[in-house]
Amino acid sequence: MAILLFADHDNAALSEQTAKTLTAATQIGTEVDILIAGKDAAAVAEQASKLAGVRSVLLAEAEALEHRLAEPTAALLLALSGDYDTVLAPATTTGKNVMPRLAALLDVMQISEVIEVVSSDIFKRPIYAGNAIEVVQSLEAKKVLTLRTAGFPAAAEAGTAAPIKAVEAGVGNSDLSRFVENILSKNDRPELSAARIIVSGGRALGSDEKFREVLNPVADKLGAAVGASRAAVDAGFAPNDLQVGQTGKVVAPDLYVACGISGAIQHLAGMKDSKVIVAINTDEEAPIFQVADYGIVGDLFEILPEIERQL
Ligand code: FAD
Repeated sequence: MAILLFADHDNAALSEQTAKTLTAATQIGTEVDILIAGKDAAAVAEQASKLAGVRSVLLAEAEALEHRLAEPTAALLLALSGDYDTVLAPATTTGKNVMPRLAALLDVMQISEVIEVVSSDIFKRPIYAGNAIEVVQSLEAKKVLTLRTAGFPAAAEAGTAAPIKAVEAGVGNSDLSRFVENILSKNDRPELSAARIIVSGGRALGSDEKFREVLNPVADKLGAAVGASRAAVDAGFAPNDLQVGQTGKVVAPDLYVACGISGAIQHLAGMKDSKVIVAINTDEEAPIFQVADYGIVGDLFEILPEIERQL
């Protein structure tokens, strides 16, 4: 049962999502190779080779792979896929861009956002915004998966390094898409998807000034990332990349503090796997209290400054 893991990285460092996907891969089978597709990415291959459970690392370097656009990357994965029963990737922006194209080229059904590996061909994945968990058995000879990594611990480092093999990239630039620029938001806080603590605000915050004034001091004291509900994002209180939920980011921090968020199913879909959930809401009937470990019924404009003082 050979498995190819398409790694998530930025040509300099391997993302933690890859180490988490590796844990899932080793639950499917034992012969796991990691593909580093990129440009000047030898350092990333070295990092991958040190992870426990890796059989070998394939390093494919080419100009066309620098940004891992879907067309050249899927072509590379297709060329390599002959040796593998399963090809998988974390459900990151890149994974979600590349893997459906590979599945289409292989003419197989992709199994998306897997949260649990039951066996080498049976997987669990959320449907209806996480309200139901579907158990899927795939009888495809070749399986293409994306993994929702929040539920998998990162693979540890091994004492030894797996071999790194250079593979022929054999892909040219596609004229179907091209890389223009990456506009990254500058933020001193931890990145939302990787944060251990998240303080999130909803529509109740009322304005972008209040959002910053009331949430940021508490987030700063806790060393937390700031998140938002879609209502807060749509109202312009917070930027789009802070949105948590079905159409935002899926997070599973150690602590999630939901402030003035009602707990609509689409929001819960993005945060209900958090280890400890604290909810602050004036409405004791708010659905967020059904998933909260600790609930404070009250006005967030009084409670958050008090929490900040106490911290
Ligand atoms: P509201 O539902 O308006 O809740 C505000 C809460 O604040 C209320 O519970 C109220 O009691 C409380 N409150 C008011 N004043 C105070 C105060 N002073 N102190 C404390 N509490 C107070 N939503 C997401 O969040 N993420 C998504 O990814 C997402 N995707 C969606 C996808 C689809 C297809 C659809 C249809 C919807 C999606 N939504 C998403 C929207 C979702 O349905 C809700 O509308 C949204 O989550 C509500 O945001 P909210 O809780 O901030 O606002």
